[in-house]
Amino acid sequence: MNIGLFGGTFDPVHRGHLALARAAQEQYKLHRVHFVPANIPPHKQRQPLSPFVHRFAMLALATAEEKTFVPSLLEAPEESGVPIRINARTSKDREEKPNYTIDTVRRLKQSGKSNDKLFLLIGMDAFAEIAKWHQAEALFRECEFVVASRPGYSLADVANALPESLRPRPEVTRPFQKQAATGDLVLAGATIHLLADLRQPASATAIRQAAASGKSLGRFVDAPVAEYIRKMGLYK
Ligand code: ATP
Repeated sequence: MNIGLFGGTFDPVHRGHLALARAAQEQYKLHRVHFVPANIPPHKQRQPLSPFVHRFAMLALATAEEKTFVPSLLEAPEESGVPIRINARTSKDREEKPNYTIDTVRRLKQSGKSNDKLFLLIGMDAFAEIAKWHQAEALFRECEFVVASRPGYSLADVANALPESLRPRPEVTRPFQKQAATGDLVLAGATIHLLADLRQPASATAIRQAAASGKSLGRFVDAPVAEYIRKMGLYK
């Protein structure tokens, strides 16, 4: 089976995320897409995040109608004997270990069938930082990447974002500068599929700002998620 793994903070999940998952699913025939909210994202540690339970609940609501979209507990807080504190914004959670995608990928592989093929779904803004990820080269060995492009990014930006050991030489990538980030990039040690711009400008930051100022969220999220945010008083 082709399995998609889509990680992020999902604070909150929005239509941009769902559009990415749908496009990847359609194009690469993904039998299932796991949406994996990170308990402690290694790259966003300075930003105060909503508690995991809320981010997970919103994902469960957003994916409820899609049989093959699975809200995942792969990066849920570790059981420590301490109940999860719903309103604990940071301190206790921050003492736990960050969730590294390579560990999640390996855990997912162990739980699945050996001939499953794993696709890591990611937006271009996050992919731009991929070389800094923990065991980045190993991640490219373990799975193929599906990168959602954004306007203004070229194929050279994609190639140059790779960890140094996988990055093509500058004379190879120079002609890529004029090419839009679409199609497939198949290199020794990395396969990257590029999704054309999804034209879904939703962003979690904009949603949090809209919620804080009491604006309607209907443009960015489906009704059950908007209602959850309102009921629980998130982002006030
Ligand atoms: P924030 O504004 O809080 O940084 P975000 O939605 O950009 O939120 P995440 O929830 O961590 O951040 O995003 C998860 C993944 O979804 C990332 O790979 C990101 O690049 C991608 N993504 C986010 N928004 C969009 C969008 N509108 N279209 C396509 N991909 C997106």
